[in-house]
Amino acid sequence: MRSLQTDYLVVGAGAMGMAFTDALIDHADVHVTLVDRRHGPGGHWQEAYPFVQLHQASLFYGVASTQLGTGEVQRSGPEAGLQQRARRSEVQAYYDEVLHRRLLGSGQVTFLGGSEHRVDGDAHVVTSRVTGEETRIEVRRRFVDATYLSPTIPATTPPPFAVADGARVLPIGELGVVDDVPTTYVVVGSGKTATDAVVWLLRNGLDPDRITWVRAREPWMLNRARVQPDPAVGLGLSADTLTAASEASSLDELFLRLEADGAMLRIDRSALPTMARTPTLATWELDLLRTVENVVRLGRVRGVRPGEIELDGGVVALPAGALVVHCAAAALLNPPSVPIWGADAIRLQTIRVGFPCFCAALAGYVEATRDDDGERNRLCPPNIYGNSRAEWARMQVQGMRAAAVFGAEPDIAEWADGCSLNPGRADATQRAEPSFRAAAQRVADHAERGLARLGELAALPTG
Ligand SMILES: Cc1cc2nc3c(=O)[nH]c(=O)nc-3n(C[C@H](O)[C@H](O)[C@H](O)COP(=O)(O)OP(=O)(O)OC[C@H]3O[C@@H](n4cnc5c(N)ncnc54)[C@H](O)[C@@H]3O)c2cc1C
Repeated sequence: MRSLQTDYLVVGAGAMGMAFTDALIDHADVHVTLVDRRHGPGGHWQEAYPFVQLHQASLFYGVASTQLGTGEVQRSGPEAGLQQRARRSEVQAYYDEVLHRRLLGSGQVTFLGGSEHRVDGDAHVVTSRVTGEETRIEVRRRFVDATYLSPTIPATTPPPFAVADGARVLPIGELGVVDDVPTTYVVVGSGKTATDAVVWLLRNGLDPDRITWVRAREPWMLNRARVQPDPAVGLGLSADTLTAASEASSLDELFLRLEADGAMLRIDRSALPTMARTPTLATWELDLLRTVENVVRLGRVRGVRPGEIELDGGVVALPAGALVVHCAAAALLNPPSVPIWGADAIRLQTIRVGFPCFCAALAGYVEATRDDDGERNRLCPPNIYGNSRAEWARMQVQGMRAAAVFGAEPDIAEWADGCSLNPGRADATQRAEPSFRAAAQRVADHAERGLARLGELAALPTG
């Protein structure tokens, strides 16, 4: 078996592995070996559905050294006034460019694409998926697991229900290549992928009555207009969250207050959502989604057979020629939070609320600039993505507390203020704006009570 020596072995060349590596080599003279079983960088974006776009502004995505997109607001279309969001092809091209020009061009990084990593006893072994050749990687400093939060996607994850012979079920990514035009599209899923499928079908001219939407749970979503790379907008959302929490007597009230503030959106105003992964959605998308009236709320799908779909709460007949669209992969996973700097590995996780690229870059910066794992873990405690409303409240508390801790370090604050991935970034001029100062005052007024109340709400068993 051949062997290779490196300072850092980073497994996973998705958004988190790329952002960590980029920030690390920017601040430390080290060699990194980046490994991925996929043949190129960018992780799940390589197999995402063709019409996917970033759900949030391009500026928040990618690596710290290299901006994704131009940073301009959209001037036309339904999202005029909001920041650009890259399409799949742009994200793929961006990561290709970052890998080849920035990372490999630095001379500090080796990329082993198409290579499966495994731990064999104490050894790290990588197997080429092309030649089958094995390489033992001798790691001088750290092993970095950049796969811990890797999302599951319909293209690579079978549906979480049985599919009988003859049943017509396809993942969302194959919607555009269906030859035999379906009579009805049965969209299965309650998350962002399902909303993308429905919006895409409707924008292609499909009558809403030809869509049946199977939603096991109702989702809360964040209004995209409130998640923009504008410091006053970002701080305003934190202020709204803390204000709503300090006055809320229940999780429902918290989310309803945030809805009244224009921060949270729900598809069906007559139902109280219990799901709170809170992907972002624009109000034009919400208007389209609300035109679909055939909604099946009978719990999770158990199986699809020709002519019918079986759910926890009953069986629904499907018209001849119906196509079931699989949008039911878990996407964001919630594995147990563990210290990011562990004895055997650095396990990349979120730290502040959401924004995985910024969090991975922050971990890379902290790895390069601190020399004690206890201190690194103090500065970067792990956060969760949140699935239920209680978990969402917990994510807010943990993320806001973490931001206060790492933001209190002058060098980190300076680095973060120069990093466009950081949604909390603000320069001196922006901080002097009346809208920013008003939001900062509201945060100061409500932080103590709001964080305490969020903590109480997070512990509620009904979350
Ligand atoms: C459709 C979609 C849209 C999204 N949009 C946004 C957005 O707009 N903004 C945002 O902030 N977040 C968004 N997200 C959230 C998403 O989690 C992150 O954006 C991010 O892409 C996740 O990156 P990752 O590096 O954690 O995982 P991945 O992209 O899955 O990368 C992990 C990599 O590890 C590799 N790997 C795993 N195990 C091994 C092994 N044993 N050996 C070798 N390689 C291995 C995999 O091949 C994979 O390429 C979106 C998610 C989805 C699914």
